[in-house]
Amino acid sequence: MKICEICGLPEELCVCEEIAREVQKVKVYTVRRRFGKLMTIVEGIDEHDIDVRELTKELKAKCACGGTAKKGQIELQGDHKRKVKEVLAKMGFSSDTIEIKERNERRGRKRRH
Ligand SMILES: [Zn+2]
Repeated sequence: MKICEICGLPEELCVCEEIAREVQKVKVYTVRRRFGKLMTIVEGIDEHDIDVRELTKELKAKCACGGTAKKGQIELQGDHKRKVKEVLAKMGFSSDTIEIKERNERRGRKRRH
């Protein structure tokens, strides 16, 4: 019987990876890049706990778009905020800790207090 080095439980009972997914504080938002292209940014994923490259592959496939992973941040082409949340939730990320931020329109909006 193999024992998990992190939690000390037998591997079949180990929930380290699931726990890691549940506690990731993921932020999903869009930014507008040059030439008006929208990019969906997924950030807050801990590279040490989660295989970000695999996750990027999965998200690209599910959203049918291009994208890259760098420094633990995932960039997807287009606006896929809702879809990203749905896919992450299905993969075991807690939807409570996935925060979707609506786009900041930096230009032409006055602050109101
Ligand atoms: Zn474990």
